[in-house]
Amino acid sequence: MAAILEMQGVCAHYGRIQALRDVSLTVGEGEIVTIIGANGAGKSTTLMTICGIVKATSGHVRYQGRPITDVRADLLPAMGLCQVPEGRRIFPRLTVRENLDMGAFFRRDADGIEADLGLVYRLFPVLFERRRQHGGTLSGGEQQMLAIARALMSRPKMLLLDEPSLGLSPMISQHIFRIIRNVNEERGMTILLVEQNANIALKLADRAYVLETGAVVMEDKADRLRENTDIKKAYLGQ
Ligand code: ATP
Repeated sequence: MAAILEMQGVCAHYGRIQALRDVSLTVGEGEIVTIIGANGAGKSTTLMTICGIVKATSGHVRYQGRPITDVRADLLPAMGLCQVPEGRRIFPRLTVRENLDMGAFFRRDADGIEADLGLVYRLFPVLFERRRQHGGTLSGGEQQMLAIARALMSRPKMLLLDEPSLGLSPMISQHIFRIIRNVNEERGMTILLVEQNANIALKLADRAYVLETGAVVMEDKADRLRENTDIKKAYLGQ
C-alpha cells in the first residue's frame, strides 16, 4: 500500500520540554490509523507537528512524498490534508452554513461544493435543520459534527482527527465514529485518529501506534493490539 503520510525520526519541543522523541509513523492510502496513549503522551503534538502548528526540531514529515515540515498550516487543506483540532474550534458567531462555507474557502468548483454540502447534510441531518443558527448555539456534539463537516467541505484526501469523542455522550460518539468509518469506506478518505478512548479507536482502526512519554512504544494491526495483554491492562481497562 502506498504511504500517503510518513513521519521519520520527528522530535518536537515546547521550550525545554521534549514532547516527541524520534517519532516515526506511516499511514497508507485509504487506511484508518489511530494513535493511542495516556494524557500528555504526545498525541496532539504529533498531529500539530504534522500540520506545522508545532515545528519539528528534527526529523521529516512527508505527505504524498512531499516534505511538508515547512509548509504553512493554512495551505495544507488545499493539498488535501485537513485537521479537525481538539476542542472543535468552530466559528461561534457564524451560522452553521457559513461555517461550512469556510471549509471550502479555497475551492473554485461551485458544483463540487454544492454536492459536498448535500453530502454533509445527509451525513449530519441536524446540521441541515440548524443551518441558519449560529455555531455557538449548538450543543457540544453538534459542534463536533460541524467541525468534521467543515473539514469534509474541503474534500480532503486525508483527515487528521484529534479526540473527536471528547466530552460527548456514548451515543453521539458512536454516531461520529460511524461517520468516520463511512467517509473512509465510501470516499476512500485516509484517517489519522487521535483518541483517548482506546476501546473505540482500536475497533475502528486498521492499525495503531501506542505513544508513551513522546515515543512510539508499539505499533501493530489494531485487532492484534486489542488482544495484547499489556494493552488490555494499560488502555482497555480489562
Ligand atoms: P492529551 O490527551 O492530554 O491532549 P496528548 O497525548 O495529546 O495528551 P500532548 O498534548 O501532545 O499530549 O502533550 C505532550 C507533552 O507536551 C505533555 O507533557 C504536555 O504537558 C506538553 N505540552 C503540550 N502542550 C504544551 C504547551 N503548549 N506548552 C508546554 N508544554 C506542552
